[in-house]
Amino acid sequence: MEQRPCWVEIRTRSLEDNYRFLTRLAPRDTELLAVVKANAYGHGATICAQAAVRGGARWLGVTCVEEALEVRAVCPEAHIFLMSATYPGQGEEVIRQRLTPVAWEQWQLDELESAARAAGLLPGTLPVHLEINTGMNRQGADEEDLPALLERFSPGSPLKLEGIATHLYAADEADGEVTSKQLRRLDHAMEIVNATGLLPEWLNVGASAALLAGKGQNIVNLANRHGLKAMIRPGLALYGVTPAFDPGFDPDHSLLEPDTLMDARQELKPVLSWKTRVASLHSIPAGAAVGYNGTFVATEPMRLALLAVGYADGLDRMLGNHFCLLVRGQRALLAGRISMDQAMLDVTDIPGVEAGDEVVILGDQGDQSISAFDHADVTQTIPWEVFTRIGPRVRRVAVAE
Ligand SMILES: *Cc1c(COP(=O)(O)O)cnc(C)c1O
Repeated sequence: MEQRPCWVEIRTRSLEDNYRFLTRLAPRDTELLAVVKANAYGHGATICAQAAVRGGARWLGVTCVEEALEVRAVCPEAHIFLMSATYPGQGEEVIRQRLTPVAWEQWQLDELESAARAAGLLPGTLPVHLEINTGMNRQGADEEDLPALLERFSPGSPLKLEGIATHLYAADEADGEVTSKQLRRLDHAMEIVNATGLLPEWLNVGASAALLAGKGQNIVNLANRHGLKAMIRPGLALYGVTPAFDPGFDPDHSLLEPDTLMDARQELKPVLSWKTRVASLHSIPAGAAVGYNGTFVATEPMRLALLAVGYADGLDRMLGNHFCLLVRGQRALLAGRISMDQAMLDVTDIPGVEAGDEVVILGDQGDQSISAFDHADVTQTIPWEVFTRIGPRVRRVAVAE
C-alpha cells in the first residue's frame, strides 16, 4: 500500500563519510563511538547504526536497554555502550545482549553483579564503564565515593572495570576553560583509580563539540598518561551538523575558530531530508481566513497548498505564519496555524504547483536549503531537539545517495 507522503530520507553514504571524516579529524588511535541514541537523533536507529558500522565504527552508543535491543538486532558484532543507568531488573538483558553499561551508583553495580552471577559469568568478564562526575553534576560518581565503587571490581567479582567515563558540558565554549577544569578533575580521579591497581582500557570522554573544538589531543594525552586509550562519543556531527560555538566575550577576536571546526564546517554533510507532498490545492478570495482561529487572512486572492504534515509529525506549531518550506525550488510561507496532521503553504506566487509536488521541510531543493538550525532559530531550540521531535509516524527511508 502506498503510504501517507511524509517521510525522511537518510543519506547513509553521507553518514559513513561523516564518520570517516571525524576519524581523520581525531588524533590517531582515538576510538570514535557513534552515538545512535534516541532513534539516531530521529534519523532511524537501525539504518544509522548499520551505516556507522560500514563507516568503520566499532562502538555504538544508546541511552537504554530498549534502544540497544533494536541496534543489537542489526549490529551483532559492535560494542554497544549504554549511556544512562541500567535499571533494576535490566541486568539480565544487558548480559544477554552483550551490552557495555555505565555505572556510578552502588545499586547499579548490585543489579549488574547479581545478574552476572545468575548467568554464571566468570570473574572479570562483565565490562563496566565507571562514570565520574567532573562538574556537570548530571550523572557520575563524586571523588569521595570512588574508593567504595572501585572495591566492587575486586578479583572474584564478575564485574570488570573496562572504562572510565565522563561527560564534558561546555566543550562548545571557545575559551575552553571549563573543559580544562573538567579534565584536571578527571586526571585526579584517574590517580585514585590507578592507586587501586585496576587497569581500565578506555577513557571515554566528550561529544561532537570536544572533537570539533580540537580537544581530542588533550583527551588522548590524559588517557596515555594513565595507560588508557581515548574514546570520544560524537553524535550531532555524525549526522552532518556542526554544533554552534559560543565565542564568549572576545573584544579582540583573539579566539580564532580552531582548524578542526573550520574543517568540519566544510566537510560534514547533512544526512537527513524531511519531505512531504502537496495533497490538494485551493484558491481563496481576499479576506478569507486560513486554519484554526483564522490567524492568517488572505490580503489578495491566494492559492494554498495542503500538506500531509502536522505537529504530530514534529512540525513545531511556532512555525505557522513564520517559516517557509520549499516547493518547486522556491520558498513558500506556512500559512495559518499548523494542525495536528496537516499544514498549509501560501503558493500564490509560485506558478504551476500541483497536487503530488514534493515539498521540503528540512533539506535542499534546487538551490534552496533549510537547515536544522533554521528550524531551531524560529522554534527557540537546538538542532538536536528539531531532529528528535520528528515523530514516529514519519517514515525513515535509507537512500544510497
Ligand atoms: C548525547 C551524548 C553524546 C553525543 O553528543 P553530541 O553533542 O550530539 O555529539 C555524547 N555523550 C553523551 C553522554 C551523550 O549523552
